[in-house]
Amino acid sequence: MAALFLLKIIHGIEDKHIIVMSSRRKFLSDCGVLAGGAGFSYLTLGNTYWHEISKTKGKSSGLTLRFKPYDLHLKHVFTIAEGSRTSTPVMLTEIEFDNIIGYGEASMPPYLGESHETATAFLGRIDLAQFASPFLMEDILSYVDKLVPGNYAAKASVDIALHDLVGKLMKQPWYKIWGLNPARTPDISYTIGMDKPEVVRLKVKEAAPYKILKVKLGKGNDKEMIETVRSETDKPICVDINQGWTDRSKALEMAHWLKDMGVVFIEQPMSKDDFDNTAWLTQNSPLPIIADEAFQTMGDFRKVQGVYSGVNIKLMKCGGLRSAYVMIKMARALDMKVMIGCMTETSCAVTAAAQLSPLVDWADLDGNLLIDNDIFKGILIKDGKIVLPDAPGIGISKNNI
Ligand code: MG
Repeated sequence: MAALFLLKIIHGIEDKHIIVMSSRRKFLSDCGVLAGGAGFSYLTLGNTYWHEISKTKGKSSGLTLRFKPYDLHLKHVFTIAEGSRTSTPVMLTEIEFDNIIGYGEASMPPYLGESHETATAFLGRIDLAQFASPFLMEDILSYVDKLVPGNYAAKASVDIALHDLVGKLMKQPWYKIWGLNPARTPDISYTIGMDKPEVVRLKVKEAAPYKILKVKLGKGNDKEMIETVRSETDKPICVDINQGWTDRSKALEMAHWLKDMGVVFIEQPMSKDDFDNTAWLTQNSPLPIIADEAFQTMGDFRKVQGVYSGVNIKLMKCGGLRSAYVMIKMARALDMKVMIGCMTETSCAVTAAAQLSPLVDWADLDGNLLIDNDIFKGILIKDGKIVLPDAPGIGISKNNI
């Protein structure tokens, strides 16, 4: 109850939503007991249970939002400088209009502060019935963005589902709607978390179809990790320090050593708040320095310009495709490198992000490859490059699991 009280304070959640959230827990534990609340009902769709928002105020436009919690199982224990985990909570969303369904997803690694509870509370506030058409994307997504601060993954789940729906209504994939060339998709990188040398070697073998490896560093065994990878392959490597370095002179020394080892860029070497030392490192480093934790939304360009060489844009950080598209354009206007990244996600959010990939320098879109219970099919990888599906919307179909 303490957590719910906190949610109420932070997000201004109304009592009726708290009741629904409590009912949901009982519902899930009772496994099959129909629960209802003001403005919500639980529906049985196939073998799964969804929250469906059926607000009654105003005349319904026919736009319906559904969402349900889901847990992704990681194939390997995933260790980065911030900690280890074996699963990631996600929220699956659907927006239905005129019997067409758009799919979306919120991926919520625990260190980012969102959870099934916060996403349930946020999505429960959304009233899409007030909008006359799903094509009013600017109105709808501005409304969602302004409902409460934060909740970017939950916002992204609505943004992705709406893009999928509208693309399906237009019968076109988003890369075509944006006028992007699918032949310009970049090579995709495959992530290797910190581990014992024998496991790292196994992961390098698993990464055979990929032309770039992304190696997680920052816990003190950086040289051992890189030397282990190099004992198996001469592919280009990018490294993600996840804020793990603290001394700028040692960081510069490592940057030179990494360049000699065939590394192409360094992501988030030092604390996201350490702008002075990061700016010094970027000025002196032989490798580009990319902002990830230090860069979330459009407003952060003010902080990272002149401090980093480029930015890592993720749908879950910025609130979805609408923001990500504008941020890519802004980065280019500021002459910055652009990487598009992901969390551990299903093919839903990964394929949505891939629609933007012809615009970026590097794509770190392997979140779906790190899990063993993906419920969607989407992008394919051919010769290490992203192949964008021709299917309309964000280009996904459902797996039967
Ligand atoms: Mg990163």
